[in-house]
Amino acid sequence: MKKHNFSAGPSILPQEVFDKAAQAVLNFNNSGLSILEISHRSKDFVAVMDEARALVLELMGLTGKGYQVLFLGGGASLEFARIPYNLLKDGGKAAYLDTGTWAAAAIKEAKFFGETVIVASSKADNYNNIPKGYAIPADADYFHCTSNNTIFGTQIQEFPETDIPLVCDMSSDIFSRQIDFSKFGLIYAGAQKNMGPAGATLVVIKEELLGKTGRTIPSMLDYKQHVDKESMYNTPPVFAVYTSYLTLQWLKDNGGIEAAEKRNSAKAELLYDEIDRNPLFVGTAKTEDRSKMNVCFLLKNEEHTEQFDKMWKAAGISGLPGHRSVGGYRASIYNAMPIESVQVLVDVMQELEKSIQ
Ligand SMILES: *Cc1c(COP(=O)(O)O)cnc(C)c1O
Repeated sequence: MKKHNFSAGPSILPQEVFDKAAQAVLNFNNSGLSILEISHRSKDFVAVMDEARALVLELMGLTGKGYQVLFLGGGASLEFARIPYNLLKDGGKAAYLDTGTWAAAAIKEAKFFGETVIVASSKADNYNNIPKGYAIPADADYFHCTSNNTIFGTQIQEFPETDIPLVCDMSSDIFSRQIDFSKFGLIYAGAQKNMGPAGATLVVIKEELLGKTGRTIPSMLDYKQHVDKESMYNTPPVFAVYTSYLTLQWLKDNGGIEAAEKRNSAKAELLYDEIDRNPLFVGTAKTEDRSKMNVCFLLKNEEHTEQFDKMWKAAGISGLPGHRSVGGYRASIYNAMPIESVQVLVDVMQELEKSIQ
């Protein structure tokens, strides 16, 4: 039986995408070849790469606005270093918002390249909120933030207004809600949360920002080299790009980001309403900063843990335990998660309540 997969990443993808990707492993486009054995320079794969790159811009409303799309290896974690390498000028400074483990990991890498200003941090609150009302230094080369904090279940609801380039790690909420993407200079996301399998990282970058650091950059770390080679500087992660392409196509066929946002809001409301209503549970993130992708909650009384764990496992739910730095539970309800699966979880929470009274 297919499980209800609430894993934070790698995570659920649409069933249709699993089916098509499986078919392509056996016989890609009726070519008599598997997607795993074709050349990345073959006509069929070049078309996939071109269409995937174009779809990203189309879905984000960025077509013709000076942006380039790359599918790179190394995970979002390599972008933590590649971003300052390419954007933090020699002798310049970068500004960062510290909202969680991943934001802190990005800050650590930036420090290798130059002055790194942390404009605000919610670390002292175990990252249960998004700091607000901070000032961004006007002379920084860029401002970096994390749109959704996968581990702590918080999400930026309003991005700051600033004249310096906005850089955002959207790994765990990319394509989940409507945003004015043209406000950003660089957007990046590991595919494995909301877009595809592990192995590819999406980078969307405003081309005019490149080549300004005054520093020599090794080729594989240089966005410009990847842009010039249309994301084929070296062998790209072929299968991960293809599967991401299938997900992007699925998203477009199902009403794009606008429709996805409506579905995501309905799912999040269903689950948060239950957490707030059910006397056995409590949410961990500050209400106004709650994420619509990663819903973190605790049992008020840990004595019920064994029973609750038994019950959700019996209901076919997988991947619910929270990250060790928060504990409790984390329901990741990405784009591909059907509301029916969220309802299964809510039903289990209600059954637990009934069984205890
Ligand atoms: C998972 C995650 C990362 C790390 O991604 P890798 O691809 O494993 O390097 C970075 N940022 C956020 C917000 C994440 O959720």
